[in-house]
Amino acid sequence: MLLYKVILHDRKVYILLITIYSMTKQSNTKINCPNCKAENIKKDGLRITENRGKIQRFKCRECSKRFVLDDGFFRMRNSPLKITQSVDLFYRGASTRGVQGHLAMFFPHNASNVSVYNWVIKYSKMISKFTNKLKLRVGQEAQTDEIEYHRRKSDKAKLGAEKNFFIDSIDTETRFMISAEYMKTRSCRDIKAVMNRIKDRTGEQVKVMTTDGWNAYTNTIKKVFGYNNKLGKYNVFHNRNVCIKDEGNFNHPIERLHNNIRARTKTMRGFHGSISSANAILKGFEVYYNFINKQQAIKCCPYELATDLKLTQNNKWLELINLSNLLK
Ligand SMILES: [Zn+2]
Repeated sequence: MLLYKVILHDRKVYILLITIYSMTKQSNTKINCPNCKAENIKKDGLRITENRGKIQRFKCRECSKRFVLDDGFFRMRNSPLKITQSVDLFYRGASTRGVQGHLAMFFPHNASNVSVYNWVIKYSKMISKFTNKLKLRVGQEAQTDEIEYHRRKSDKAKLGAEKNFFIDSIDTETRFMISAEYMKTRSCRDIKAVMNRIKDRTGEQVKVMTTDGWNAYTNTIKKVFGYNNKLGKYNVFHNRNVCIKDEGNFNHPIERLHNNIRARTKTMRGFHGSISSANAILKGFEVYYNFINKQQAIKCCPYELATDLKLTQNNKWLELINLSNLLK
């Protein structure tokens, strides 16, 4: 009875525990001692933190070392709520300074816009490392598109800007963004890396690849997906759509979707550092697009159609961060 009350009280915690339990069963993850890797551990009271409340502490029965599990916020000086709220606001269109202004209004201790920027990068990398491992169930056609960006190499204007590309590929059936890469150029080598990634994630599911008229696609798609000798044709048909980018020429709803992505990411600040941080920001956008934002056309998030993952909490950023760490 008491247990029942506790469960009712902490329904969200309970649901998260169930999710983690069922997922650890699948992936055979066990809690190990970080010191000696032993599995013989016991609970050992709670650790009280200033910003993150009470956290379960464990003790290793082999080497007696005490430890806490890293839920993604280990040693962070701000609360998970404040951090996930900032990341969410950023991907909904606020600038890092806009988020900072919001935090100053609602949280007693202010955080700088640089902290916000660092959280976006840190947690985008963390979550996408986890979501990249999810098995995908997609339709037959993927659409690949590239968007040009001018990245400032540094805050110092004299270093100038560099032309880069964001190349994304979307499954037309589930709307899942299969691949999203920020590339230095759109040469054959870069396109090849993107195609290899799509192949790694979808196996033999994709049969048609629709792209714009850019030359590098044709041979790369043939090379990466290969030729089927038995059937006497290439494994993936390249549907080269030269007028995919013409304004007002929306033959396919996905083209409109690409235009939305283009408009949304263009206003995103922060493309003024290394390639790797620009890539991390767009990885976060991929997470937002696939897992957070409900899409009108399919009336749910793409991940619900394309993966077996079940997210049950309202704060999906937090749930994804916890899952990324506990299922490492
Ligand atoms: Zn140990």
